Amino acid sequence: MVFFRTTALVALLACALALSAAPADQNTSTPDSTQDMDRSIKPGDDFYHYANGAWLRTATIPAGQPSYDTRAILVARTSQRVRDLIQQAAATHSAESSVAQKVGDYYASFVDEGSIQAKGMAPLADEMALISAITNKASLSAYLGSTLNSEVDGLTGNADHIFGVWVNQSFTESEHYVFHLLQGGLGMPDRDDYLDQSAKMAALRVQYQSHIAAMLKLAGVADGESRAARVLTLEIRIAQAHAPDADAADVFKQNNPWKRADFDVKAPGMDWDAYFKAAGVAEQPEFVVWQPSGVTGTSALVGSEGIDLWKDYLRVHLIEHYANVLPKGVAAEHFAFYGTIVSGMQPMPDRSQDAIAATNAALGQAVGQLYAQRYFPPEAKARAKAMVSDLIAAYRARIPNLTWMSAQTKDKALTKLAALRIGVGYPDRWIDYSTLEVKRSDAFGNMRKAEAFNRLRNLAKLKEAADPDEWRIDPQIVGAFILFTPNTETFSAGLLQPPYFDSQGDAASNYGSAGAGIAHEISHSFDELGNIYDAQGRLGNWWTTEDLAKYHAAAAKLVAQFNGYCPLSDLCVNGKQVLTENIADLAGLLTAHDAYILSLKGKPDVVIRGLTGEQRFFLAFAQRWRKAQSEAALRRQIARGISKRYGAKCRSMVQGLRRHGRRQVVSEA
Ligand SMILES: [Zn+2]
Repeated sequence: MVFFRTTALVALLACALALSAAPADQNTSTPDSTQDMDRSIKPGDDFYHYANGAWLRTATIPAGQPSYDTRAILVARTSQRVRDLIQQAAATHSAESSVAQKVGDYYASFVDEGSIQAKGMAPLADEMALISAITNKASLSAYLGSTLNSEVDGLTGNADHIFGVWVNQSFTESEHYVFHLLQGGLGMPDRDDYLDQSAKMAALRVQYQSHIAAMLKLAGVADGESRAARVLTLEIRIAQAHAPDADAADVFKQNNPWKRADFDVKAPGMDWDAYFKAAGVAEQPEFVVWQPSGVTGTSALVGSEGIDLWKDYLRVHLIEHYANVLPKGVAAEHFAFYGTIVSGMQPMPDRSQDAIAATNAALGQAVGQLYAQRYFPPEAKARAKAMVSDLIAAYRARIPNLTWMSAQTKDKALTKLAALRIGVGYPDRWIDYSTLEVKRSDAFGNMRKAEAFNRLRNLAKLKEAADPDEWRIDPQIVGAFILFTPNTETFSAGLLQPPYFDSQGDAASNYGSAGAGIAHEISHSFDELGNIYDAQGRLGNWWTTEDLAKYHAAAAKLVAQFNGYCPLSDLCVNGKQVLTENIADLAGLLTAHDAYILSLKGKPDVVIRGLTGEQRFFLAFAQRWRKAQSEAALRRQIARGISKRYGAKCRSMVQGLRRHGRRQVVSEA
């Protein structure tokens, strides 16, 4: 999993491009990005400030934020658009069963606090009765199976219930989907929250135990304090079994194929027949167990811990899971712990904000349809696709010229390039929500039904051939989703908007901005991140030892170059730490430039506002990375660098946000 970079170190690139005087102007609808420049600076001396000087002088960092950049602008703009679309859908009574009706009614039911309050805890009664009816290991296992959660993906190591499923092609065979079983079951975001012996984490556990007690009291369970202590102890034992975060960065540790019969032998404790039957996958023959220790350890706890303790644990997690669609006291207690204590958020967001997030989480592609209809028409998609075609053509021409790659590896790289699937804007086939019923005034029921719908939809894929064009990111999210397994990349409509990409605007700027960003991501398929995945996304290193040695030798120059950049007198960049991203930036820029030239088909580009196409290309690239940043934030960024395979960092981000109903969080631009 690779994300758009989170840092703007490329601003430090000593881009020595000298812009020469250009001939006559031509009219254009493109927004005037030249007003952000500082022409008093020589571009050859400091291209970043030449391109961005005026903008940097006026940009202000919003209160409470560490920085301000183009992405922040896009996120704010897109959030407002999504809010307007959803609220308009709620205010309009659209045709029954239409996408707009479902989106509008989901939102309307969520903000209808009167109805939620009036129902009290009654919506949980059926489920609470099922928990109370658990009497032995078989019925406990069956109940646990019914909670199998598909609201996870390969990033989310801690599923909301004890196990989660991610349906994706396997690491060894690309034709069909596989059941990837993920560990879960922890109430706090990270394993270390339970195991870290520092005073800070010990204090967090005390607060968590109080929170569990408060939730049990709200659920009407007597003797909450002592029960809470025991529930925390159970979760600590689950955490001890969990694979550490560091393992998330190593895909080879996650590729553990198990047959159905292996569970009884390798992970005794759970009644696996009962578990898988209740989960709706009794016939599933094969699994990939992402974290074997999490599965064996949790299964052992099913065998060893008391039934009553498990029932308390399940009551707490049930009420927690639905806290946002239960009466105010529950939602407030939930936020007091997860919002304020865990995430440092103050004050509690207004209800509409949570409702927007919940609607996006439940009906992501339904909201996405409304978004694309309004903001990313088919013409925009066609133009973005044409740019991607040029980028692929540019890579096809560049790969044979690589000096560090052997001839046999180049053949494999070209095969992989030919197999790469890139989606732009929105899916060609939307999720069909016709079987999902959404009603006004039933927030709890809507959430339950949406979860069941998404779970069944995911599990149904296990019987289908793998679809390499499966759409992975909601169009209204500003972001990209890069998967090496399968060999696919998806760039959302939210990302493909000005100033990154203007479907009506200047091609040179589009290629220099969004084009360079997409080319950056493509390059990861062929670098030290992607070299362990073949054309079909199967695990297997396709480089030779000699390729690797030559790659490192060439990369050493970039390491040395970046070691020499010191934005503060006592602070220099660690070239090695940021190497992978810098290689991708360089490859992305060079390839996007080639693609831009290809797009001209031999004709000269027009001159706009005194700038040639090539000048606008590099100007857009430099402006893409502008960022107003506090010194403290810059120091943090440089200290942190960029981790090689991202897993742990992104995972904790997903965790933190998922707690508040945002299922799909893919960032950065
Ligand atoms: Zn990258």
